[in-house]
Amino acid sequence: MKYTHMTPKVQAPMPTDFAKTRAAFALPDGKIYLDGNSLGPLPRAAADRVRRTIEEEWGQMLITGWNKAGWMDLPARLGDRIGRLIGAQPGTVVLGDTLSIKVYQALASALELNPGRKVILSDTGNFPSDLYMADGLVRTLGQGYELRTVAPEAVEAAITPDLAVLMLTEVDYRTGRKHDMARLIAKAHSMGVLVVWDLAHSAGAIPVDLAGADADFAVGCTYKYLNSGPGGPAFIYVAPRLTDRVRPALSGWLGHESPFAFDLSYRPGSGIERMRVGTPPILQLAALEASLDIWDQTNMADVRARSIELTEAFIKGVEAACPTLALASPRDPEARGSQVSFRHKEGYAIMQALIACGVIGDFRAPDILRFGFTPLYTTMQDVTGAVAVMAEVMEKSLWDRPEYKARAKVT
Ligand SMILES: *Cc1c(COP(=O)(O)O)cnc(C)c1O
Repeated sequence: MKYTHMTPKVQAPMPTDFAKTRAAFALPDGKIYLDGNSLGPLPRAAADRVRRTIEEEWGQMLITGWNKAGWMDLPARLGDRIGRLIGAQPGTVVLGDTLSIKVYQALASALELNPGRKVILSDTGNFPSDLYMADGLVRTLGQGYELRTVAPEAVEAAITPDLAVLMLTEVDYRTGRKHDMARLIAKAHSMGVLVVWDLAHSAGAIPVDLAGADADFAVGCTYKYLNSGPGGPAFIYVAPRLTDRVRPALSGWLGHESPFAFDLSYRPGSGIERMRVGTPPILQLAALEASLDIWDQTNMADVRARSIELTEAFIKGVEAACPTLALASPRDPEARGSQVSFRHKEGYAIMQALIACGVIGDFRAPDILRFGFTPLYTTMQDVTGAVAVMAEVMEKSLWDRPEYKARAKVT
């Protein structure tokens, strides 16, 4: 085989300057932020970018901003920039709605593309909202549709020719365990099963190659690793070989072929545009754009290599300093995403004590302390500092106070 015509990679070729990317975020002094897997921090340019959208676009252009400022095209334009990070071809990713809605939309479309089959397979490590949405869809459809769940380790063996759709979150939100996307897709496709991937903990966390793995559908959110801010919109990917056959169940006017014809009957729009539903959140998209300006200077291979260095050092440090914390994440870095979790029965109180001491992670019931590693702004000094604080909190039982045991609304 001759490699005279290598396909250009979707990744930017330049090496990532992590000092520069870190400087592009506004991080509060005295805090070590290890929760960018749940809510990304504020890009320094975001406030000004959003202010311009408010004052110069909304304020001055009023409704003409939809055309003049290009608001209507933002969901697809920013979708392409996210596409680069997840191995998606241009024109296959669009933004809008929340991730739960996008899960429903992708699942409904996938089921309709596989008529005659009624079973959705997922796993018990999936994020509950994904399972709730599938359950709600099954109830609406009736007619014998069914959601089946198995343990994450049992997924591969449970792929059988009676399935319509396999719906998985690639990286487990609790433990960081990672599914083998290419392998599961290959098995599913060999049995005529379509696959929907949730990339909530993958996009911006690990290299994803949707086109290379021949993915059918993928969805994900932007407020975690992609730093669009609280409530930032989700994205959806549909393989180009499927888009023209997809009939969106959430058939809103902005997915219509001609929204401003105001036809009484629905005709799906061209390509990925048909997965849009309603009016896009322009202010939130402006904040996302500020973050993508930073992401544009990165490549995922560098991000992954740095993420592995950080997580390996963190595991080593915590295991040496805190013997009562049990590693809940896979030990093999290739088998996990960009987070590390430990178990402890007092996990909630321990996390509150850590937060009070300036190390911000989060807690996931029943007993998981979760720490996200986001190389765009997490440094090796953060890792060392966090380990030192954890050692002190555990050694002196600083967590053992009533105020750390009262559960807040958001954990
Ligand atoms: C964060 C997350 C969600 C959240 O969905 P929203 O509708 O954006 O609140 C859904 N699924 C997974 C796997 C997640 O990690």
